[in-house]
Amino acid sequence: MSHRIETIALPAMSPGTQRLLKVHRFGTPGARPKIYIQAGLHADELSGILASHHLLKLLNEAEARGEVTGEVVLVPVANPIGLSQNVLTVHAGARYVRNGGDFNRGWPNLFDGLPAALEGKLGPEADANVAAIRAALRARVEQLDQRDEVSALQRALLMLSHDADVVLDLHCDDEALPHVFMMPQHWPAGADLAADTGSAACMLCDDSGKHCFDETNSLPFTKLAKLLGDRFPIPPACFAATVEFRGQSDVFDELAEKDAGGLYRFLQRRGFLAGEPGPPPESCAATPLDETDYVYVPVAGLIAYKVALGECVRKGDVVAEIVDPLADDPMQARTPIHAQTDGLVISRCLKKLAAPGDSIGIIVGPGA
Ligand SMILES: [Zn+2]
Repeated sequence: MSHRIETIALPAMSPGTQRLLKVHRFGTPGARPKIYIQAGLHADELSGILASHHLLKLLNEAEARGEVTGEVVLVPVANPIGLSQNVLTVHAGARYVRNGGDFNRGWPNLFDGLPAALEGKLGPEADANVAAIRAALRARVEQLDQRDEVSALQRALLMLSHDADVVLDLHCDDEALPHVFMMPQHWPAGADLAADTGSAACMLCDDSGKHCFDETNSLPFTKLAKLLGDRFPIPPACFAATVEFRGQSDVFDELAEKDAGGLYRFLQRRGFLAGEPGPPPESCAATPLDETDYVYVPVAGLIAYKVALGECVRKGDVVAEIVDPLADDPMQARTPIHAQTDGLVISRCLKKLAAPGDSIGIIVGPGA
């Protein structure tokens, strides 16, 4: 099968306007393994979008050589709504301007109703169980609300992703080293993804409770395994991960080509594409998300960092000082912010004005 391009129209939110979702498909429909890759769900995170642009070229070449062995579905711009949200010259692509909702939070819970839907349909064969679960998930996704552009976008993306063996959601952070999030059930098998994306850290989280896109795809399997795993074999059949390709300013062809090359080798390694990827680079360690310090600040002020990206800190080290420029005495104007864990600084804020409760960085704990 040749490269196929689909365009999905989202419902118009005002007369005369409409958002379009573009989907690229490679390989034979229904072939296994299937991978679904999307970028720009937070639409102001452009590094994954540019990496997808480069990956698309590589996939076209692979298709021409007959080297697509599984099914590959790529959505280079997963959120055309957010991509268009330019507010007073500032691109505000992470949250929906109509209600402030984060585009990567509050996704539909696909586990709802799943145990009942599978009553009498599970048995002793793991592969047959996975197929039954995917069929039930499809029925659930088909019934999702699609009355407005955001719910229709969610439904459309889940229709593409829910039955994939691997789901990659490409994001970036503010100012960051590459890193990746996945479930503990997928480690250490997922070390190849961490390695091929050049990740400096891999954070493991069973269920963040935030209803993010990646978990929406992977959690139904692990929740079912917890509920019914003593009676039926239920593998964690959807390996979903969020890849953070550095920071918002890191949008350059040189980096995106490198990132696309890494993704391509991962696809070869996992059997979506033919060809020899070479030995995997050394992977970083994995760390439970609980051991990650998000460096919350208690006061408002300007952020003066005392650590660089990639720096290793000890618990108690001063990570930053929050400066109150209106303090009467400049000697009393600085609040030191201490690291809560030993670890590696992988993220800092681009904007340097903090409010109480803000997170101003990520320090990945001892495993890193
Ligand atoms: Zn993001």
